[in-house]
Amino acid sequence: MNIADSDEMMLQLAARGCSPCDSLKEADIVVVNTCTIRDHAEHKALSYLGRLAKWKAEKKGRIVIFAGCAAQRLGKALRRKFPQADIIAGAKNIDSFSDILETSGLFKNKNVAAGIPSAQLVGLVNIMRGCSCKCSYCIVPYVRGEAASISPEVILKETERKVAQGAKEIMLLGQTVNAYNYKGKNFAKLLKDITNLPGLERVRFMSPHPIFIDEEFAQVAASSDKISKHMHLPVQSGSTKVLKDMKRLYSRSEFLQKAALLKAAGICLSTDIIVGYPTETEEDFKDTLSLFDEVEFNGAYCFKFSPRQGTPAAALPLIPEEIVEKRLDILLNKVRLSSKAAYEAQLGTVQKVLMETPTNGRTLTNFWVRTKTKYNPGDVVDLKIKETKETILLA
Ligand code: SAH
Ligand code: SF4
Repeated sequence: MNIADSDEMMLQLAARGCSPCDSLKEADIVVVNTCTIRDHAEHKALSYLGRLAKWKAEKKGRIVIFAGCAAQRLGKALRRKFPQADIIAGAKNIDSFSDILETSGLFKNKNVAAGIPSAQLVGLVNIMRGCSCKCSYCIVPYVRGEAASISPEVILKETERKVAQGAKEIMLLGQTVNAYNYKGKNFAKLLKDITNLPGLERVRFMSPHPIFIDEEFAQVAASSDKISKHMHLPVQSGSTKVLKDMKRLYSRSEFLQKAALLKAAGICLSTDIIVGYPTETEEDFKDTLSLFDEVEFNGAYCFKFSPRQGTPAAALPLIPEEIVEKRLDILLNKVRLSSKAAYEAQLGTVQKVLMETPTNGRTLTNFWVRTKTKYNPGDVVDLKIKETKETILLA
């Protein structure tokens, strides 16, 4: 989502005569697009912003734009501490980024409608903004606002534009992407319309929420070989009690039912897990481990719980760090083993690979494949998997 927002900001800057360059040394403008999902992400963004004071002082006229979710959360407080930030554009302001550039006065008389950033093989298309779920630990609804679906006309036009520019794959984006609903058009129906667009090879999407998975979606996903057969479906915990505390709106058994429905539709799964949520006991953690085994996820991103100011979970007492570390280690080990098994299970199979570079591409089930033969990016080729490395298949 941040990459899509960065593309949008780049378009607006390109329309003012700016073009991307390879190094800070050459640059006149730096846009720092930030994340605040965990404290660590925000910390990294702020320390980078701190270092930009020196860069800015080295050449007159340099501009720093601090954008995204951390900019939204910290807002004006940043101005005092980081005077090097000329423009602060929060995540809610992406749609009005053009106006922000105008009112800053820094881009006066620079409107030259220059070339737009080069075409990308994987086109990112936002279909929803914000989130209305209010999971107890999560800051997203506060920094990105309530969920709002974008009209199908705008989405289809944007998709067609990206395909015409050379995109072979479209990645639909939203915090709860499958909660999409615009005047009765739901996610399954939108997905069907998108797969009917000529010239498009594949459609992926991120992030789906388990509660919005239903039969209609599973049928549509199974019926088209343009729709990715991999889904990143965050579960967060395997314990019904913790899921309830997290306000995830589903139980362990409900999640298992959804996972079974997707697997029957030929879809493989990866997930997100939070370790050390304040109410997580040793038993709850064991439930997460057993759920991970039961679903046979291909992989997982595992995060230590990070209290985010203003969220309900931030008021709860933390679990001691050493316990959280220990649980994370155990889980990561399990994830590594199951990912290895998932890669090894591909050995000897023939896969349709969409090439993203001359030698690297992706299967419909989202495994990376490397070949010795060179192809044109955008080609779809049948490749036999001969070997596996930790996170890549060799053909
Ligand atoms: N909208 C997506 C997730 C977006 S945030 C969904 O609900 O599925 C990406 C991931 O960050 C989440 O799935 C969660 O695992 C993690 N995350 C969010 N807030 C967190 C927090 N306070 N501490 C640790 N991890 C967190
Ligand atoms: Fe955050 Fe995702 Fe929950 Fe929305 S659904 S509050 S983005 S974790």
